[in-house]
Amino acid sequence: MRLFGYVRVSSREQEQGYSIDAQMKRLQDFCTGRGHVLVRMFREVETAKKAGRPIFNEMIAALKKDASVEGILTHKVDRLCRNFKDYVLVDEITQTGKKFLFVEEEFAATAAGKLTFGMKVLLAKHYIDNLSDEVKKGMVEKVAQGGYPCHAPWGYKNVKAPHSLEPDPLRAPLVRQLYEWYATGLESLDSVREKFIATGIPYRPSAPRPAKSVIEFILKNRSYTGWFDFLGERYKGAYEPIIPESLFERVQRAFNGRGRGSGHRGVQINFRGLFLCHSCRCRITGTIKKGKYTYYTCTHMRGPCAEPALREEKLEAEIQDVLRQLDHGDDLLAMAKEGYLGKTADRRQQRETERARLEERVTKLREFMNRGYEDKLEGRITEEFWAEKDKAWKAELEAVSQRLEALKKDQVGRPEMAVKLLELSQTLHRVWPTRTVEQKRRIVEITHWNSTVSAGKLRPAWNSPFDLIAEGPKVKEWWALLDSNQRPKDYESSALTD
Ligand SMILES: [Zn+2]
Repeated sequence: MRLFGYVRVSSREQEQGYSIDAQMKRLQDFCTGRGHVLVRMFREVETAKKAGRPIFNEMIAALKKDASVEGILTHKVDRLCRNFKDYVLVDEITQTGKKFLFVEEEFAATAAGKLTFGMKVLLAKHYIDNLSDEVKKGMVEKVAQGGYPCHAPWGYKNVKAPHSLEPDPLRAPLVRQLYEWYATGLESLDSVREKFIATGIPYRPSAPRPAKSVIEFILKNRSYTGWFDFLGERYKGAYEPIIPESLFERVQRAFNGRGRGSGHRGVQINFRGLFLCHSCRCRITGTIKKGKYTYYTCTHMRGPCAEPALREEKLEAEIQDVLRQLDHGDDLLAMAKEGYLGKTADRRQQRETERARLEERVTKLREFMNRGYEDKLEGRITEEFWAEKDKAWKAELEAVSQRLEALKKDQVGRPEMAVKLLELSQTLHRVWPTRTVEQKRRIVEITHWNSTVSAGKLRPAWNSPFDLIAEGPKVKEWWALLDSNQRPKDYESSALTD
């Protein structure tokens, strides 16, 4: 096959040693082994500050033009598609007969292969997903260089470059002491607090005796290990740790097991923070019981509440059941897609008709204005009559032009995106048991974040466009109910697509 090669690194990845040359070599080796020819190589270096991928766009344009090139070869899926929008584009191009090959991954040319590919893009957790504005981007740049993005935690001092934090000679040893006390599993937050006060080191000049919550906050702050979490990613800070990671982990286990035994190793609270209590709308949190079972309960932030606790195994089964509601078989899916696309096509048609009518009017108005001017020059109409007419034509021209501008800006959203999501959603309940915890959390976030738990049952609060298909039998009606100007709420601006 004659192929284009595409390699991409972000500036952050480059710093971490992920090199563009290594990717190019892998592509060459792949082709040599299989008798493919690399016609041209496209190299993209992305920075967090610049949006878009000019080289990628150039390549896609070249691919569409050149019939002799059969497809594109990249290292992995995440090099080619950064988000769901890219995936929709790639999928469109596949339908013209072009191929996408990956050195490290292979997708069968079947429906199942396509779904796997789509799922991969859907679940790819690229850090750029979380970044919505320039401020965050600036922060990430700083963090990627080892900088600490917040105020110094208690025990550290903020200092200027090259190191952003420095241990405070008086406080840092006390932080380490707090961890060592609590790690024994014999202490409570109260008793550790008493020991803190007994050292005579003031917490703050204005509040020398720390609150219990302050002690807990210190004991759960990973930053003391030299690693910290920021926007869902873990970073290595360019500063000196106060405690080793092993000590931090021991303290976290002491919290989970409330200081008794260690049989709870490996038990985790996987679905913390994803759901709400149906009765009082508090967040559902998890606790580990007897060191081996995870129970989910309401946080009771708004007073007592009678919702029963739910075992993690039961909650997982509930989520899978809820996802099953998205799978209605091919007929219903086809109907949903047809309805959705039909509705959007109608809206496009309406706009097109209006635009044509307005453009025709612009031409007419220009004609009137020209002819009126000639008539005035040749004395067929009075100066006064012309001035009045000309004013009216100009006003109308202005109004029509404004409406045309507005039509241009107000593009109908890309229904392809929603349709792809609907296709992928069909398989979620089947792949559910094979996903990692992080992917499972992402599936929940994408499809029905903020669902509620009521009497041990999960009541889904679907995100768009999944609400459309989850309604099953109502599917024939839903698109008829959509107001002609109303898109499903915000599917374009969701975390999925950008
Ligand atoms: Zn509650």
